[in-house]
Amino acid sequence: MKPSLIPKQYYTAIMFVFAVLISAAAAYVFFWRPIISNFRNSTPYAIQAGNPLSQTKNWVTLRVAFGAQNEGQNYKIPILMYHHIGDVPAHADAIRRDLTVSEETFSEQVKWLKDNGYESVSLQDLLLFAQGKTSLPPKPVIFTFDDGYEDAFQNAIPILRQYGFVGSFGVITNYPGQTQGTNIYASWDEIFAARRQGMEIVCHTQNHFDGSDKKFASDYIYNNLNGCQKNLATHLGQAEPVLIYPFGHYTASYIVQAQKAGFKMALTTHQGQLNSLNNLMQIPRVRVHGNEDLEQFKKTILAGE
Ligand SMILES: [Zn+2]
Repeated sequence: MKPSLIPKQYYTAIMFVFAVLISAAAAYVFFWRPIISNFRNSTPYAIQAGNPLSQTKNWVTLRVAFGAQNEGQNYKIPILMYHHIGDVPAHADAIRRDLTVSEETFSEQVKWLKDNGYESVSLQDLLLFAQGKTSLPPKPVIFTFDDGYEDAFQNAIPILRQYGFVGSFGVITNYPGQTQGTNIYASWDEIFAARRQGMEIVCHTQNHFDGSDKKFASDYIYNNLNGCQKNLATHLGQAEPVLIYPFGHYTASYIVQAQKAGFKMALTTHQGQLNSLNNLMQIPRVRVHGNEDLEQFKKTILAGE
């Protein structure tokens, strides 16, 4: 009889070693990896004076280096839409009142989110997540502020920072420093300071033109969006590939021009929480109304849970 390569008496020992290796691999995949992942995700957002964005990037890079897994995750992400944060001016019309959330109410909302385990992330984090390059905390929330009003910069940022949160501000790049009626727009200095405090600044076009109005040709749309990014890069040193549509208005050809101008994600005013990453150019948001009390806010956030 031809002698076997492995003597028979060793079979049991070899099978035992295999069993141990397979058990160890299974323990890592099903037990330790979720724990390690949760631990990573619980890292608080790095918001500091100095160079906070590079800190944020390092944190994301660290998670990518660890090989964060996105597949199979369930998510329901409220992307909150605010405009003014502060007092309603005298003689304000119904629209202005609806767009204005008081500091006190905003503070209550942020506190409730923090107390209920929500962690804020930036739009750039969401994009990296959609690209499979990072993971998100178990309960992510995104704060967006449209139009670049000075009151949002002055009043929302201290509250967000108090809770270690980040806000994403959609700036109309021809407007900084201007006053139009009851609307005062933050200056570039204020926007730059916000950025240094870890806030995210994204494009909301150069002049808030209505993207669904047929009088704006493809070239106009492209030049405006491209110009918006150039303005942000000039004043802030960088522009994120994220757009907020003015009025939430866009068309199919608008999206083509936005993508040509380098945008990879765009936010609408469609009502709802994000639960699919299939259409990054039509991201829904949750509008927060001026007259909304905390009970209504909670109901909207918890809807569907
Ligand atoms: Zn707007």
